[in-house]
Amino acid sequence: MEDRLFRDAMGKFATGVTVITTLHEGQPHGMTANAFMSVSLDPKLVVISIGGNARCLSKIKESGIFAVNILAADQQEQSMIFAGQIKEDREVTFETLADIPVIPNALAQVSCDVVAEYIEGDHTLFIGKVRDIRVQEGEPLLFYAGKYRTLETVPV
Ligand code: FAD
Repeated sequence: MEDRLFRDAMGKFATGVTVITTLHEGQPHGMTANAFMSVSLDPKLVVISIGGNARCLSKIKESGIFAVNILAADQQEQSMIFAGQIKEDREVTFETLADIPVIPNALAQVSCDVVAEYIEGDHTLFIGKVRDIRVQEGEPLLFYAGKYRTLETVPV
């Protein structure tokens, strides 16, 4: 099967956009990801999937911690910075939640300890046990068919 067909099919699944953050050797690091899912309510678990070439991978493995930051509609630039889509240096600020760096003004910040990791093909799945959560109101940034989108209410 062509990689393009697989990518096109998976791109038909509309998602939100997150930045996965971690702390490595005292430095915060972030990476844009939409492969995120909630797994369990009791205990509270989430999963993320990180590509084998991502610099973030070894940083999460070594630190054993990550945070999921669900981006707001006005945070497309943050997504592009942490996906390497904006190359030039931009000022990035972090705050902390339960001692893990998080992105200010994200709709939700979810700080986690890695409790399991599974290498599957060319990605690694990290299961995170939730340490703490912070939420705020707002509209989400979306990603569909390779493009950023925003939510539109359908009249009923
Ligand atoms: P790096 O090159 O280490 O970092 C990416 C960018 O973030 C760099 O430009 C870097 O300068 C910047 N950055 C990181 N930390 C800081 C900091 N402290 N201060 C300032 N800038 C910083 N890949 C996956 O593996 N899984 C996914 O689920 C996934 N979903 C994606 C969804 C979307 C919508 C997009 C656009 C991309 C997605 N990607 C995903 C691809 C992934 O975001 C890129 O491949 C990413 O750049 C690779 O991460 P890295 O750690 O190697 O990047």
